[in-house]
Amino acid sequence: MITPRADVALMEGYHSPQIDVPVRLNTNESPEPPPAAWTEALVEAARTLPWHRYPDRGAEALRTAIGSLHGVGPDQVFAANGSNEVLQTILLTFGGPGRSAAVWEPTYALHSHIARLTSTEVVTGERSADFSLDAAEVERVFAEGSPSVVFLCSPNNPTGVVETEATVRDVLARCVAADSLLVVDEAYGQFAPWSALALVAHDVPLVVTRTYSKTWSMAAARLGYLIGPAWVVDALHKVVLPYHLDALKQAAGLLAIHHLADMDARVARLVEERGRLCDRLASLPIDIWPSGANFVLFRPRSVDGSVVWQRLLDAGVLVRNCSTWPRLEGCLRVTIGTPHEDDAFLAALEAALP
Ligand code: PMP
Repeated sequence: MITPRADVALMEGYHSPQIDVPVRLNTNESPEPPPAAWTEALVEAARTLPWHRYPDRGAEALRTAIGSLHGVGPDQVFAANGSNEVLQTILLTFGGPGRSAAVWEPTYALHSHIARLTSTEVVTGERSADFSLDAAEVERVFAEGSPSVVFLCSPNNPTGVVETEATVRDVLARCVAADSLLVVDEAYGQFAPWSALALVAHDVPLVVTRTYSKTWSMAAARLGYLIGPAWVVDALHKVVLPYHLDALKQAAGLLAIHHLADMDARVARLVEERGRLCDRLASLPIDIWPSGANFVLFRPRSVDGSVVWQRLLDAGVLVRNCSTWPRLEGCLRVTIGTPHEDDAFLAALEAALP
């Protein structure tokens, strides 16, 4: 009987339990649905789409609209089915057998997971105790690994830590010298105080990935993109499957841009709520890390993280259990929800702690 490729057989896959509980704060989704006017416009678009035709293969209208948000043309925009597919296409194009990708742990698990799936060797660096990136460790990884693709995640998932501009510039300079591509994953970029988007330029090997899933309340739509030099975007278009973006998704993404003010208001509400939640968490017997994202990492000081996770679940609150992940022993990650959801979480957490 056929079996999966040996390296695939050894893989664990990506697990994030989808448990049906009243308060779901485990996957960094937006707690609010998109604006009702967006939904209505999308229903109307679905009625009038030429469903018997393939969608616009280059997604020109969508890429033009996304580009105009960032002051670039469509030639500098690559869109795909969630930013995960953007990351996968990057690795299929610039990684692969005989090439390697660099990550500094702890970070978003899919960077190394997709690298391995595409037979790209993973070179792993370590973050400091406060989860920042030390220049000497960056240097070591470049010297030992000669990575073709280099990943930074800012704000970083699951720590919430925002890379400093100095760090991103330092890693970028090393990428220029080493002929590598720097990927700054900004899935949570709109919640953070600064963005690497301003560093994107034609002759710079840098791409910045973004998603509609978090800030734009559209996780169900599966739409993400990158902004980068046109030569990178051209190469990615050679690799991605033809017609990979269906017509309804293209319409959904375009219509969202007509509701920018509403979408931005959602981000502002979450940033404010993050401040309130962190203030409350600071008074509990837990360690927390400063977050520039729509989630917060914390570690109960005197109870095992898994025990607290189970107690929260028993109280109807689902958070992400990172307590058994390497370098994150005892940690849990909570997504910022509505004030009502966050109050339910805080009450359950207070009850779960001694
Ligand atoms: N990057 C990071 C850092 C993420 O946390 C996520 C979602 N968990 C993604 C990318 C993928 O998001 P999507 O595929 O929904 O755009």
